[in-house]
Amino acid sequence: MPTTNGLSLTTLQEAILHFSNEQTCIDAVAAMRWPDGKPICPACEQKEHWYLTAQKRWKCRECWKQFSVKVGTIFEDSRLPLTKWMLAMWMITNCKNGISSWEIHRAIGVTQKSAWFMLHRIRLTMQNGSLVKLGRNSGEVEADETFIGGKARNMHEHVRARKIKAQGSQAHQTIVMGVLERGKGKDRKNRTASEVRTAVILDRRKETLHPIVKEHVMAESALYSDEHRGYWGLEDEYNHQVIDHAIAYVDGKIHTNGLENFWSLLKRTLGGTYVSVEPFHLFRYLDEQTFRFNNRGNRKHPIHDGQRFQKVLSQVTGKHITYSELTGKERLPVVAAEPF
Ligand SMILES: [Zn+2]
Repeated sequence: MPTTNGLSLTTLQEAILHFSNEQTCIDAVAAMRWPDGKPICPACEQKEHWYLTAQKRWKCRECWKQFSVKVGTIFEDSRLPLTKWMLAMWMITNCKNGISSWEIHRAIGVTQKSAWFMLHRIRLTMQNGSLVKLGRNSGEVEADETFIGGKARNMHEHVRARKIKAQGSQAHQTIVMGVLERGKGKDRKNRTASEVRTAVILDRRKETLHPIVKEHVMAESALYSDEHRGYWGLEDEYNHQVIDHAIAYVDGKIHTNGLENFWSLLKRTLGGTYVSVEPFHLFRYLDEQTFRFNNRGNRKHPIHDGQRFQKVLSQVTGKHITYSELTGKERLPVVAAEPF
């Protein structure tokens, strides 16, 4: 039997051929959800059932309820076949600069609205739920923030005046904070890949920045930041070293170039592929870019497209969001309130 979870696939063409059959897709999701090959009834948690081939559903022998492989995953309630879901997942996971809902709409033949919803659900699987702190590999972590969003000069004058008066000159922009652990290894060829975590933040005050650093960076790591005052006071817990950007951008190891690189990738994606992203949804695009960055691999530890796809597929369970939650017509689930 061929591997069904996508791991053996390496190109989009192979993925299209492999996932062209609905049953193959069901098998792939089932194999990932129930590795022992015994689907669990979501109603009564029993493992005894019949498989109804025509309906492509299981019928529980205990409670007689039927269930599909989609229940309890991001595919739940979706009428779209898994053949389309698999391809959308493959594309967003592996396109370096992301892929827009319009491109998905044209590529796989769903409405743009459906494509938008699919992409946001897939982004949910890309969230980093890791509780493992950065600093455990190279021990060198950078911290920095960036501003995302429209320029004040593109705004209507009265809007601009009102916003600036209310919140200062950067009121129209959203602030993103990042911490990045540098790769381990001295020479470039053998270095491990760096890893980043990001969060949308409301301001750059100490009270906002410190908890994020402490939550995600191991104590006693080397911490590199610019001279921004919000980072002052971290030297008790970290080996904090500051680069004053008014004087230089690099001073030996003291710089934030790893994060600068990530910010430029992020801005290219947001500006190029996702022409306008509402601040409300920004954290979802951050999840997506962060996922691809942390799973990009490098020369020493290459990660191919099938492996990245498989990782996303392995995270589709236990996550669910409705259209009205996504569009803000209902309260967002707790995940949205968390910065990471
Ligand atoms: Zn049951």
